[in-house]
Amino acid sequence: MKLACHIRYRMKGETVRTAIGVDLGGSHVTAGVVSDDGTIHHQYECDLEDLSFDYVSRVLVEQINSAIKDVEAKNCVGIGVGSPGNIEPRSGAVLYSPNFRWTNVPLGEMLRSNFELPVYVANDARCATLGEYTYGMGRGTRNFVLLTLGTGIGGGIVADGDLILGNRFGAGEIGHHQIRPTDGFVCNCGKIGCFEAQASGTGLIRHAFAVQPSFPRSRLLDVDRDKLGSKKIRKAAQAGDQHALAAWKNFTCDLSIGLANVIAFVNPEVIALGGGVSSAADFMLDAVRGRVDELTTMVPRGTTRIVVAQLGNDAGQVGAATMAFRGGLTTIGA
Ligand SMILES: [Zn+2]
Repeated sequence: MKLACHIRYRMKGETVRTAIGVDLGGSHVTAGVVSDDGTIHHQYECDLEDLSFDYVSRVLVEQINSAIKDVEAKNCVGIGVGSPGNIEPRSGAVLYSPNFRWTNVPLGEMLRSNFELPVYVANDARCATLGEYTYGMGRGTRNFVLLTLGTGIGGGIVADGDLILGNRFGAGEIGHHQIRPTDGFVCNCGKIGCFEAQASGTGLIRHAFAVQPSFPRSRLLDVDRDKLGSKKIRKAAQAGDQHALAAWKNFTCDLSIGLANVIAFVNPEVIALGGGVSSAADFMLDAVRGRVDELTTMVPRGTTRIVVAQLGNDAGQVGAATMAFRGGLTTIGA
């Protein structure tokens, strides 16, 4: 097992209440010490070379052990882990995770058998939502939605001050509501025209391919498909490339439909957009805000602010630690 880990932050020295926050991604693990003001003090990262539960468990235990060495036991309230998949929050069992191809694996139980601290496990996107809600753009609100636009669309919903888990912990799968069921792209989940298929970074690339016949002289897509990132298309659109602009227009149109739907369902005070596509904040927000207003009908217009998320890639880790500070993902103890 090759572990390429490094420390990115140094402890400042003062005694604070801390938790271990762990973001378990599909290709790497980030673990670290987070204080209850949302600051990451120590951070360890490690690539995953194998996605079997045994291997991932060994890496998690090793990373958490590294982080625990950096805290005083009496000040550390617990360990919070965000993982992809559908997760039973009391036991921390991963009921189903397409990313890891896991079914019903006892992640929480495995961690409890290795550590004496309280252990909390929840879906990574819900953890990121809790982090952004507590320390980022959701601060001061009671109704909040985070959407991360990356290779897919992850997210979570806070309603009336509590993160919604749903009947079987599936609430917040906003990426898989269909916005173009008849003429959209095929989604990873198998449906056609899911919000994720149309309005993620991957969706932007697919829009560029879809409009290509209208731009026969365009060189925009003249690279290997696996090397083509959404950033290239977004930057070309910002530079005025007509092919990229056509793709960008369709992408932001679909993004606006999904955002207006979220507003109709939740009417949050704030929707924060994270992920790579949102790095061009003004360019993206200018394109969607007006269209979202047009598509907002029964909900009073202008009552949901659309902003760019603040915590970036740290949201999941900070949110996982926040879960430990709160004693669970929600205030009702789930
Ligand atoms: Zn889908």
